[in-house]
Amino acid sequence: MSASPSPSPTLPRVVVLATGGTIAGSSGDPASSAQYQAATVPVSQLVQAVPALADVARIEAEQVAQVDSKDMTFGLWQTLAARVAYWCAQPDVAGIVITHGTDTLEETAMFLHLTQPCPVPVVITAAMRPATSLSADGPLNLLDAVRVAASADARGKGVLVVLNQQIHAGRDVTKAHTSAVDAFVSPATGPLGYVQDAYIRFTRTPARRGIELLPVPSAWPAVEIVVSHAQPGRVAVDALVSAGVKGMVVAATGNGSVHETLAAALADAAGAGVAVVRSSRTGAGHVSIPSRLAPRAGAFVSAGDLNPWKARVLLLLALAADPGLGVDAGRLQALFAAS
Ligand code: ASP
Repeated sequence: MSASPSPSPTLPRVVVLATGGTIAGSSGDPASSAQYQAATVPVSQLVQAVPALADVARIEAEQVAQVDSKDMTFGLWQTLAARVAYWCAQPDVAGIVITHGTDTLEETAMFLHLTQPCPVPVVITAAMRPATSLSADGPLNLLDAVRVAASADARGKGVLVVLNQQIHAGRDVTKAHTSAVDAFVSPATGPLGYVQDAYIRFTRTPARRGIELLPVPSAWPAVEIVVSHAQPGRVAVDALVSAGVKGMVVAATGNGSVHETLAAALADAAGAGVAVVRSSRTGAGHVSIPSRLAPRAGAFVSAGDLNPWKARVLLLLALAADPGLGVDAGRLQALFAAS
């Protein structure tokens, strides 16, 4: 744990929980965007690199992990949730910032969105360029994230994601570019607002959702993603059923359509008690809810506007909390519709 240089004691207290990622990445070649090592720079150094933080908040920094987020694990999610819960319970903490890799940021955001009842803002930030690169985006993203975390306006808006001067809802945001600094978008909704220096403006409030918070699992059910495309086989689905998966999300074509071969395999999986949820591989839009939810070809639970990886997070948490949902498509559909 380390503190920033001499901030005013009247400033809000913001905790920075670091998990790694490119924001903590370093490279021998500042001009290269691909040749670098993620998760090498300690959080104390990330904070020290942004002296302006001392004008915004009293920062406390904690190194929760140091990983490339492509290697995210349920164990790390559990640790992170515990640290968020701990700091949320401290009466004088104004907000929490989590530094994260961009690759699975949207999944962690969804996980925290669905599990954390934090009364103060929880803001995830990241960077597309390593800390040592030319025009690194991490320092400004960190400063903006702290500004949002310290802002009373950000309270009650759920888990937020701040990058590239934009504020997104953790539920809605997704990474949509391999390398650009404006890689993060919220396809269904657009951003919640923006940050311009000290000026923070929320242009809308997050959509109201009916879903209750779900517990952080101690045991995680096996839930996998399969993809519908031209001429799929059924071997992957059959193998997953044999391996004992409890849920499958299908990254379906278009508005949730599934190739007939895959649909037949998924219908058999559903008949064997596996929860099957249809999301779309298109990247935007809502998957229509079928009028009948019997486990027949093409009539599986709709993920709504959740992309396949976000739908998987919800399915994981839902099945962990209530394994009976796997054989109750009506209740599972209601949960997704409320999410
Ligand atoms: N692979 C990196 C990570 O997700 C990418 C990044 O942070 O931009 O940790």
